[in-house]
Amino acid sequence: MKVLLVEDEQKIADFVSSGLALRSMEVTHCLDGSRGFEQACTGRFDAVVLDIMLPCRDGLSVLKGMRAAGVTTPVILLTARNELGDRIDGLELGADDYLAKPFFVEELAARIHALRRRLAGDRQNTVDVGGLKLDRITREVSCHGRSAELTTREFSLLEYLMRSPGQVYTRAQILEHVWGYDFDPSTNVVDVCIKRIRGKTAALDEQLQSPIESVRGAGYRIRTL
Ligand code: CA
Repeated sequence: MKVLLVEDEQKIADFVSSGLALRSMEVTHCLDGSRGFEQACTGRFDAVVLDIMLPCRDGLSVLKGMRAAGVTTPVILLTARNELGDRIDGLELGADDYLAKPFFVEELAARIHALRRRLAGDRQNTVDVGGLKLDRITREVSCHGRSAELTTREFSLLEYLMRSPGQVYTRAQILEHVWGYDFDPSTNVVDVCIKRIRGKTAALDEQLQSPIESVRGAGYRIRTL
């Protein structure tokens, strides 16, 4: 897998480059936004890891330019803790994910893999995990020919989890992806929504185990059967 890293801090660039290389990824590194943009526009990368604060051209401008030029390569933004506004702008400009500094390179590698899997899954209209089918066109969830009606939020949440079966998502990640912004972390909207999905999917088939598994202290995941 070919990864473009646009990062001006040499120390971060070094640990990311060597960490990803250890995981069989081929990393091309650019130190500034202008070079990064040129490289990104070649379209020869499978993913772009893009810092926001960069010399010459900032990361959000690079991202905006890429999307305007029709470059659809998935982008993971690297943000500092105090850049919440930038992070939201970035997601609106077409970033696929973000990672707050400081981070572990394992986490970045996992995000890159998850993104690739998700994008591969997005090309199909239906997702099927353990007999539970989700149709992206009709937005229908079914099992053994019986279907359930989910609200838009419930559907988005289930779809988000079903893209990467087995991967654990925290409440904060689910909130941000499904609700689109930062909620008060103490809110229980995620738990309430998951309870409703479980109720609806349980009604499809009494034998069907709940597709959503709670992982104590961590979050939720789709059971892999
Ligand atoms: Ca920087």
